[in-house]
Amino acid sequence: MITSWNGKPYHSLDYMLKERFGEKVYKVTLNGGMSCPNRDGTIGHGGCIFCSEGGSGDFAASAALSIHEQIDSQIAMLSAKRPIHKYIAYFQAYTNTYAPVPYLEKIFQEAISHPGIVALSIGTRPDCLEDDVVELLSRLNMVKPVWVELGLQTIHESTAAYIRRGYPLSCFEDSLKRLRAAGLEVVVHTILGLPGESREDMLATMDYLNARDIQGIKLQLLHVLKGTDLAYDYLAGKFKVLERTEYIDLVADCLEHLDPSIVIHRVTGDGPKDLLIAPLWASRKREVLNLLHHRLKERQSFQGKASESV
Ligand code: SF4
Repeated sequence: MITSWNGKPYHSLDYMLKERFGEKVYKVTLNGGMSCPNRDGTIGHGGCIFCSEGGSGDFAASAALSIHEQIDSQIAMLSAKRPIHKYIAYFQAYTNTYAPVPYLEKIFQEAISHPGIVALSIGTRPDCLEDDVVELLSRLNMVKPVWVELGLQTIHESTAAYIRRGYPLSCFEDSLKRLRAAGLEVVVHTILGLPGESREDMLATMDYLNARDIQGIKLQLLHVLKGTDLAYDYLAGKFKVLERTEYIDLVADCLEHLDPSIVIHRVTGDGPKDLLIAPLWASRKREVLNLLHHRLKERQSFQGKASESV
């Protein structure tokens, strides 16, 4: 079936937000000042092999500011370029449920009490979602929508061990069930191009997620960033990064494997240019998106012609 999402050939986040909130909504990227158990020694010291010093939150505001100050400073920057009325508070850096519940309640309440904020998005690990945290998120979800972003990256345990993810797939499954039982929306982060994974391995991750109760997905291109252990392996020639055409075909394949009701939050990457070692084509994001849209439209028109001729 060919579906059109306001000109985009897939169910994009932008489309979903306009449908849900009646206008374009932007994210403000916040820093709750938390760490990560995979960095502070609780689970590991080095963190995930691809994770930058900024805890995969290199665009987040400074944790030295209060949450309202962070929101206001980001709104001032974003709204200087165009009129914007609605924002999502996105807690991105490190693990945003890795703190005592009273602290989490304080910062999340501060975020949703801001008049410009229409929803809360919280990036975290499935092993940092104890029942009292889920209960808190569920209460906040009664005030404004809350979605939880889980960094799964892959379903394959051997890759998970290489990237030092630090939890098994069963942990993801357990957290997903509890989040859904509490009425929270779940967005899953995946990485395409992890060392040792074939196209079939990556599509197996898509098929697995397609059979789960998830509401959104991020398809993230593997970035090799300066200062990471992944960069050492890359510079030692232990693996290759994806070429642009390979990546575009892969994303198109993934989108074909996913149910159209799953919202696609990302189809490329947002790695900081000053840290990016490879692939360098990733920094020309607009070109990547244009090529992807072109490829998807080609495939859809081919499918349309094929079904007409049946
Ligand atoms: S869980 Fe997130 S913040 Fe922690 S090491 Fe992995 S990518 Fe970095």
